Order: sequence, then C-alpha cells, then structure tokens
Amino acid sequence: MLGLNYDAIKRWITIITAWGVLAPLNSLAEIIDYHQHLYSPGAGARSSPGPRGIDADNLIAQLDAAGIRRAVVLSVAYSFSNPNKPPVPNEYEHVMAENNWTSAQVAKYPQRLLGFCSVNPLRPYALEEIARCAKDPNLRTGLKLHFGNSDVNVDNSDHLVRVRRVFRAANEHHMAIVVHMHANIDHHRPYGAKEALIFLEQLLPEAPDVVVQIAHLAEGGGYDDPATDAALSVFVKAIERKDPRMKNVYFDVCGVAIPGMWENKADLVVQRIRQIGTNRLLYGSDAATADNAPKSALKRLHNLPLTQEEFREIENNVAPYLRNWLSAAESRQKPFCKPRKPSARVVAKPGSDPLGRIVAISSNCPFCAPLAANSRITGKPEVIPR
Ligand SMILES: [Zn+2]
Repeated sequence: MLGLNYDAIKRWITIITAWGVLAPLNSLAEIIDYHQHLYSPGAGARSSPGPRGIDADNLIAQLDAAGIRRAVVLSVAYSFSNPNKPPVPNEYEHVMAENNWTSAQVAKYPQRLLGFCSVNPLRPYALEEIARCAKDPNLRTGLKLHFGNSDVNVDNSDHLVRVRRVFRAANEHHMAIVVHMHANIDHHRPYGAKEALIFLEQLLPEAPDVVVQIAHLAEGGGYDDPATDAALSVFVKAIERKDPRMKNVYFDVCGVAIPGMWENKADLVVQRIRQIGTNRLLYGSDAATADNAPKSALKRLHNLPLTQEEFREIENNVAPYLRNWLSAAESRQKPFCKPRKPSARVVAKPGSDPLGRIVAISSNCPFCAPLAANSRITGKPEVIPR
C-alpha cells in the first residue's frame, strides 16, 4: 500500500461529485454527545449510578462502543443540593469537590471529553462557584443547571431573581448554559407555555452572548407530557418569527426517544424537530447507566421517523462553544494519514479554515477550493499526498 487513506479520498470524491464544490463535509463528521455525565462515588450514591459512580475510563469505553468520538460532560455537583433529598453537611464543599473531580476526570481525556461546571442556582454560593469554575480550564466552557433537581420554579419571584443573576454571571464569564428547564416532575411544579415564556422573556435576555442549550427538547425525558409541547411551542414560534432572543438557543434531543414515552407523539416530535431546524439540534445520550449505555441511547434515537440526513446533521452539529476546543483537540491529534512523501506540501495548516477547524490539504489536491464560511469541517486532520 502507498500509505494513502483510500477511504478518506473516496469520501472526498463522493462529496465533490455530489456537490460539485467543496460542500460542508458532513460525511467526514464525527458524532458528538452533548449531554453526558460523570459521577464520583459520592454523587453516584445520591443518584441512579450508585456508589461505584461513573468515571472517565468507564465512559470512554462506552463511547468507543457507541462510535461516539467526543462528549460534553455535565457535572452533577448540583445533586448535593437537591432540596428534596436529605441535606448534606458542608454542602458547598461537596459541590466544589464534585466539580473538581469532574474537572480532573475529563482532563484524563482532553481530546475526547469537555467538562461543564454545575451548581444549584438558588444556593447562596452559586455565583461564587460559577466564578471559581470560570478559572478552571476544564470547566470554564459552560454551566449546567437542572431546574428539576434543584426544584427551581420560575413562577416564584425569588427563584426567578436568583436564576436571572446566574444567567447574567454565566454570560459575563462567557460560559454556555445547558439547562434542564423542565420543572420538578415528582412535586408537580408548574410547567408549560407560561414558564417557557418567562424563560424567553426574562432569562434569555440575561445571557444574550452565550449559547443556551435547552436539554431534552424542553422535556424531562420522553415526549409524552402535553405541557412539554406547550413549552416547546413557545420557542418554536419565537424561532419562526425570528425572535432575536433565540439567536443562540440550541436544543438537545437527549432522552427524547425513551421507549413508551414518545411513540404516539412521533409525528409531533418530528414536526417540532423540523420546525426548530436540525442546525439548532444537538445529540445527547445522558448518563451511561446500566440501562442507558450510549450505544443503546444512540440506537433508540434512530427509532424516530427522521431521515438519515437529519440524524447525521443532529449527531454531527458543532455548537459554537465547542469550536475552539475541537480545534485544539484536533491539533494535538495525529493526522489521519501521513503524507506519502515529505514533499507533499500542506497548503492549509491545521486551524486555518474560517471556523478555526482543522483541515490539511496537499497543494495539488484537486479539492483545494476555498472553504465556504459556513463549512463545518469535522473530519480529522487530513493530508492527501501528491
Ligand atoms: Zn442529564
């Protein structure tokens, strides 16, 4: 063999033939999981994974089995301040320790895992913890909030004031926000169109400069609660009328396809996904527990009646908050294939495309058209020899 990566070249040729130009290279893309968790033994004991928890080594093995290249790991530090569970002495210390543990775990796989800090937004130490996480390179990309676990009720004016402050702080620290916005289900807290409108009108304007990723398509899992559709419809209408507050809002589809919780609403789920637009949707598996291995979660998603192209787009989307990290992660990675001769000249150096993504192409490669500004190059660094 000549050391060429024929598969890669074949894929490029297919793309060129299909598009006639260097179009977005979705077929080179990798699956990104935007909703994962790790659990220290202490956090595991308070949640479904149990006291063995889930560490980065476990998660990476499961991501490998699912063919998922990278994952955004949302710290579960807020679980130590769940007001509906027995209180933990020295709660804030546990919260800090869990965020620190998550940071250290993702640091073991800097090219595969990226951490998000988390905190209960109603706690008096919330702003202090966000500021602390903003200094941690493994956590500073974003903040996870879980309104269900933290029992946030946006109809409560005191809660709303605190959460607005937290959104503002995340914005000031340039941290994206991933939010499980569905109110607590066990305690039947109010949730629906009214709460989504409060979110749109009073929370989003506090974080205008960062991505806000609404988890689970605004559900708490599945898509069988009519209140969820009422809530999601508020955002769908806002997208349709090009409401500027929706500019940086994304949705993850994590947990939507839980068996028995979406099938009779299949057409509605698909309609909402198409109304939102696949460019705003992100894939997520949720915690890799025994009954929710990433491989099964990914497979379940494919039960939704979407087209292969739609799945591909959702699974390969690159949220703006990941771009710099992906670029850095790619540049630390070995090239996909080595140049056959040392003379194969690389004209596009890693990190040189308009989005700061990686692409390396030899000078006489027939595909060396300039990249369109909206190209999403998600392939590994690639050098095609003369
Ligand atoms: Zn989750």
